[in-house]
Amino acid sequence: MLIVANGPVVTRTPDCPFIERGAVAIDGDTIVAVGEEQDIVDAYPGAEYLDAQGGVIMPGLINCHTHIYSGLARGLSIKGCDPHNFLENLEQQWWKIDRNLYMDGTRASAYATILESIRNGVTCIFDHHASYAEIPGSLFAIKDVAEECGMRSCLCYEVSDRDGQQKCDEAIRENAEFAQWAADARKQGNTMIAAMFGGHATFTLSDETMDKMAEANNGLTGFHIHVCEGMNDVWDSRTNRGGIPPVERLLQHGLLGPDTMLGHCIHVTPAEMDIVRETGTWIVNNPESNMGNAVGCAPVLEFFRRGIPVCMGTDAYTHDMLESLKVFLIIQRHNAAMPNVGWGEAMTMLFTNNARMASRYFGRTLGVLETGAAADVVVMDYPRFTPFSGENIDGHILFGMMGRSCRTTIVNGRVLYRDRAFVDLDEERIDAWTLEQAKRLWGDLNGRTY
Ligand SMILES: [Zn+2]
Repeated sequence: MLIVANGPVVTRTPDCPFIERGAVAIDGDTIVAVGEEQDIVDAYPGAEYLDAQGGVIMPGLINCHTHIYSGLARGLSIKGCDPHNFLENLEQQWWKIDRNLYMDGTRASAYATILESIRNGVTCIFDHHASYAEIPGSLFAIKDVAEECGMRSCLCYEVSDRDGQQKCDEAIRENAEFAQWAADARKQGNTMIAAMFGGHATFTLSDETMDKMAEANNGLTGFHIHVCEGMNDVWDSRTNRGGIPPVERLLQHGLLGPDTMLGHCIHVTPAEMDIVRETGTWIVNNPESNMGNAVGCAPVLEFFRRGIPVCMGTDAYTHDMLESLKVFLIIQRHNAAMPNVGWGEAMTMLFTNNARMASRYFGRTLGVLETGAAADVVVMDYPRFTPFSGENIDGHILFGMMGRSCRTTIVNGRVLYRDRAFVDLDEERIDAWTLEQAKRLWGDLNGRTY
């Protein structure tokens, strides 16, 4: 038994959203009680006491779209990389990286991403991986790292035609084998690892490849695909696919539905939005990545008006979900030229929809602190100097808290990070090994030593 106490508790539940001096009791992987600290301590006298030291105790954050393959890119500049549009950015940077990722590079990228996520209070990730240098077994290698580090992870491999038929087929097989493994693991009670079936983007997926994906998936899971991130998808649909819009193509090939999540959807038409809604498909928005790639602002407010469920991810631009929350608000207000929009949508995406998506994929109640939910809990350092209560907690999270406020991260009842130190992991050793892999990757990309 573990009690997390000595701080305000933010539950993200409608009935009791805030407890000024609260506590969360954890038994194994499950929250067994949430309430006033004194009541909880009295109820579980023998439990270990984890002191939040006044920090805010809240549900772990969920990142619905990231890319482990970019984990070693921080600080990297690739010779000759000078993109003038989104496709050039892919060609000159990201595809070069994934074409040079061998298994150790994939493992190191997973450590980099997962450790950074834990430091930022993220307890669950949906990843979209590519390592075209070495595909077979890559999702299983990431799975092993996720299990070692304790991160709740939904994995997929981004199938693409971009590196030829053989690599495309290998990517389809990797998804299918991993999805089957995850389905079997779920039957054994595994709620830490899940699978989606990944596709890169509609503009690098032929009709034949989409059919192969649907066939190989065989109804095992939903699809995770980039759609209309840049104008490439729109251009491709008009020049190469007989004018059939990207979302309509996905519909025709049976890739949409309530288990599928489409990344970005910046340049979709109103008719495509209707298809997304009618099929119960999800969209995941990545505000900072979109700004960084200069691809435009996703019409998220319109998605909401039409009843489309929208999640929040980072696209690996950052691992800080609270930074993403802030940027979502300002890009939407800037785009709408309205200073009063986006607030409700921002909180719904990060705290409600991400939790619904994750609960759907992991078979546990996630994203709330309540009895019976999975014990994914974080403690955020937050000095308070203005009124702070259940009435205005969202304002404090939006404008005051950052991922780096995180001091303690607990996933599935396991304390991964306590008072800003990893509990079981040898952070120094992992970072040193990751650095060696980064040097190797950078050397391969730029033809020099680091
Ligand atoms: Zn992405």
